[in-house]
Amino acid sequence: MTDKTETDFEVIVIGAGVAGIYQIKRLVDLGVSATVLEAAPDLGGTWYNNRYPGARFDSESYTYGYSFSKEVLAEWNWREMFSPQPDNLEYLNFVADKFSLRDHMQFNCRVDAAVFDESANIWRLTVNDGRTLTCSFVVMALGLLSMPTYPKIEGRADFKGQSFHTFDWPHDPPDLSDKRVAIIGTGATAIQVIGEIADKVGDLTVFQRRPNWSAPLNNSKITDSDMARIRARYDEIFETCARTPGGFEHEPDRRGFHEVSREERLSLWDRLYDEPGFGIWLQNFREIFTDDDANAEISDYIADRIRQRVHDPETAETLIPKDHGFGVQRVPLETNYFEAYNRDNVHLVDISKTPLECVTETGLRTTEQDYAFDVIVYATGFDAITGAYDHVDIQGVGGERLRDKWREGPSTFLGVFIHGFPNLLMPNGPQSGSASTNYPRGIEVGVDWVTDFLEHAWANGITRAEATEPAEARWTQHVTDMYSRMLMRKAKSWFTGYNSNVEGHEEGSIRYFVYNGGMPKYVSVINEVAANGYEGLTLSGPGAPGDPSGGAGDRRSAG
Ligand code: NAP
Repeated sequence: MTDKTETDFEVIVIGAGVAGIYQIKRLVDLGVSATVLEAAPDLGGTWYNNRYPGARFDSESYTYGYSFSKEVLAEWNWREMFSPQPDNLEYLNFVADKFSLRDHMQFNCRVDAAVFDESANIWRLTVNDGRTLTCSFVVMALGLLSMPTYPKIEGRADFKGQSFHTFDWPHDPPDLSDKRVAIIGTGATAIQVIGEIADKVGDLTVFQRRPNWSAPLNNSKITDSDMARIRARYDEIFETCARTPGGFEHEPDRRGFHEVSREERLSLWDRLYDEPGFGIWLQNFREIFTDDDANAEISDYIADRIRQRVHDPETAETLIPKDHGFGVQRVPLETNYFEAYNRDNVHLVDISKTPLECVTETGLRTTEQDYAFDVIVYATGFDAITGAYDHVDIQGVGGERLRDKWREGPSTFLGVFIHGFPNLLMPNGPQSGSASTNYPRGIEVGVDWVTDFLEHAWANGITRAEATEPAEARWTQHVTDMYSRMLMRKAKSWFTGYNSNVEGHEEGSIRYFVYNGGMPKYVSVINEVAANGYEGLTLSGPGAPGDPSGGAGDRRSAG
């Protein structure tokens, strides 16, 4: 093993969202030569892009914020239980500015390719501005839901009105009052938009292919005195989040579903339905995720709540999912969603019965009729989890392309390392603990673990770190096996890699995207790997055990 090759940076972080911001903070604190490359014109990731009306957290705001800084916790005031997008973006800017993190970020820098140079153990990144930047380690802080997808439908470019994906909602928001608006999709995003704009637009037509289960958000304001109480509880809040499978304050009801009476189950559900946030999903009996009978009963309960809220029985039935049970995919939380359909200016078109044929110059055509619109909103989801990776030409050992390796679905070790792609780390990667949890709680775990690993590498003169093939195979099998116990495996959703708009992701193939064992288990597994000297990784370099060249080195000042 040769000595270290000079690089532009020791670490390059790709993405300035929630993960990238915290990752650069950790690296700056260590005095490491590092930069963040971000394709967008500014930081914030999902909260920079998703500016659609109604965009807000589905996590209680104070459980979503970073926990790493006592000062941030002391200084930042959340204004709503489920904070809206403008506040969330302001918060991320507040954190970044407080620690001068912008100095270490480069915007409008899309990484088009990342190629591992085996002779020097460095990565060469090609940026859209023409530069090639080198680094020893790449940290992929890519968004899980950052590649919006549009329907594969003729005529999109022909529409003469305004149209956009919710992810690209114009920064100068269009005035929708008196407009005829179409929205395609009824996922979590559409459900937020529809509830928000129904009473603010001229006319709203929702094109629904499959309904989604959803439940009330029950949002409220946070007053100064509420905030003082929250602040006093921060330690307890984060301890609880670290203990629960989903990284929320919501703890599962550990009584056996079949051991309590139906009356007790109903009384629990009556209470949870009216409480804020994911209680109805995550404070429920654990069997609703694994047992068909338990799931059918809670699904019937939620269906009845929909029937109570939607006046027209036919519309109510159209809004009740029949192909999957409640909670087997992430539950969208709504405000006035079902009530929107009681309005005269809101119409529901069931495109499972009358499919969309094309976009026309004036609107949308189904197999049944033409509809005229001023604005078409595509709330049609994302090429989730691996989409952002597929958009970078990542080449590892022997020129192997990551997008080829992951063609049928990702395989990783711990969701952090990939065999054949040394020195590339993912604090929130596919098959890691963060996708299926309260996202920042998972991110802090991932970033801290990745940073600890890098410190270990620098302290021990390790210049090349790669997952072994057997370790990756074992982890991927473990992630796969966990799906077999979950009803989630039956759902056509982004958790199983389904997206009708992305080639290869259509019905039929399942992708094992997320670790379903819950955060506490994930944390104990990754900590054990570290405690055992990072077993499962092949480590080499001047100071690595067994490396003939010997001698540890400190690489932090590189760049
Ligand atoms: P999504 O859940 O994938 O929903 C996409 C919607 O578009 C579905 O209703 C889908 O119908 C429909 N669709 C897609 N292609 C279509 C086509 N060709 N023709 C007709 N309909 C089509 O995407 P999303 O709503 O953006 O939500 C994704 C995830 O983002 C959520 O699960 C959540 O994790 C996250 N999110 C979080 C929040 C929050 O509160 N913090 C808010 C929004 C989103 P099918 O079901 O039939 O495919």
